[in-house]
Amino acid sequence: MLRGFPVVIVAIGFATSSQATELAARLAAKNSVTAEEIGSHAAVLANDTFEGREAGSRGGRAAAGYLVEQFEKIGLDPAGIDGGYTQSFNGSMRNILAILPGSDPVLSKEVILIGAHYDHVGYGTRSNSFGPLGRIHNGADDNASGTSALLEAAQGLKMLAGAHRRSILIALWDGEEKGLLGSQHWLLEPTVARSRIRCAINLDMVGRLRQNKLEVYGVRTAPDLRRLISMQNGTDGLTLDYLWKMQEDSDHYNFFRYSIPSLMFHTGKHDDYHRPSDDTEKLNLDGVQSVTRLLIDVAVDLADADELPAFRVESAREGRDERQRSTLEAPLAALPGRLGLTWKAEETSERGLVVSSVFRRTPAATAGIVVGDRIVSWNGEALSSNQRFQQLVSTETEPATLAIVGRIGGEPREVQVTLEGPPIRIGITWVRDEAEPRCVLIKRVVPTSPAERAGLLPVDRIYAVNDEEFTTGEDFEKLLFQDRRKLELTVERDGKILRVPLVLDEAPAGS
Ligand SMILES: [Zn+2]
Repeated sequence: MLRGFPVVIVAIGFATSSQATELAARLAAKNSVTAEEIGSHAAVLANDTFEGREAGSRGGRAAAGYLVEQFEKIGLDPAGIDGGYTQSFNGSMRNILAILPGSDPVLSKEVILIGAHYDHVGYGTRSNSFGPLGRIHNGADDNASGTSALLEAAQGLKMLAGAHRRSILIALWDGEEKGLLGSQHWLLEPTVARSRIRCAINLDMVGRLRQNKLEVYGVRTAPDLRRLISMQNGTDGLTLDYLWKMQEDSDHYNFFRYSIPSLMFHTGKHDDYHRPSDDTEKLNLDGVQSVTRLLIDVAVDLADADELPAFRVESAREGRDERQRSTLEAPLAALPGRLGLTWKAEETSERGLVVSSVFRRTPAATAGIVVGDRIVSWNGEALSSNQRFQQLVSTETEPATLAIVGRIGGEPREVQVTLEGPPIRIGITWVRDEAEPRCVLIKRVVPTSPAERAGLLPVDRIYAVNDEEFTTGEDFEKLLFQDRRKLELTVERDGKILRVPLVLDEAPAGS
């Protein structure tokens, strides 16, 4: 039932030949990213020759030399000092910078930054290593993985030959392990005006993808970033864990501090973190390949967007811990439902439905229905199926007469119930979230409702109804309440896009 829904694919039906060419170019750029090439970069960077790439050390400088060579090979435009790729600071530390100019005369002044630190901790010290000290810490995951990914991304993006409206700045930072020094230095002495940076994406430790799960930090630093990433991730993509916490643990934080929308991709910590055992053979190179391809899509989408959202100041407060995320995403308690009882589905037969619990102060309780009663008919219609009963409870608008047989049997008695609340058409309670203005977040799914039968879950985000998008709650309701028995929702769950067909109940006959 699920199929892909990246924006680019949907556009195909109406694609002009230039759009089709663009799509083909993007695909070629992504396909040029391979696990093999990532692996060969990582093998060089995380080789003992570079002695753990400590910023300012002999090994660190040698690593910089290799990276500059790669930039030259790819044919990138330098964006360092004096027409070169590098920006030196603190003596012999150096950032390495290149730029891919955008195609639009106006928008190309705006810049999407993709960065990764290439330094590591050398032989380790008590303050930066979990030991054993004195041995080379190769930092294959931290952060030869992100550095290799960036080289591959740069090579892929270069193939697009500027077919993106904004410019893309590629930065390999030095001195991260000594306190985010390289990115800090760049922000103080930017080689491209700081105000031009519209979004900064950081890759740090992307080499240990497990269960296909990628952590993504910073989506709340600008509206709709989550949506943009998820749409590119598509249906068969990675499982994305969108975290709210923003910490001073990598270079994205420096940009965040300057109120620049900032993202970080990260595949999580592990036992080899900041130890000599963080070696190349433990990298998941296919995982790095997936992350790199997603990076290309996200960077190009940002570079091509008509408008980029501004920084959300609220993200500073929201980023302090994950508690506010828990509050927003906590499901609401289940409602008792319109009738106020539950029944045993397995007892479904001609003999009616057996009541398994009755909620207090509900129509069922008021009508004197008790546990063990069997509901055998509804307005004279014999109840033969579980689903028919659900339908009646969801959609009935008039008072209904139920025939009930008590636990001990005997003659049916009749009770009248007036169901609570309006008919349940869909069966969800939702909220809006100002960080994601183009979606609604499901907070509750009513048991036995069409929404539950369709498999919707609390925390699902609805992006579109029958492919129509919306920007307000009113618009969403209009789409939801259009006169149709079948709706198709575009839903995001864990960063993946699902197409969820929703079959609504018919109103009961005669009402
Ligand atoms: Zn790192």
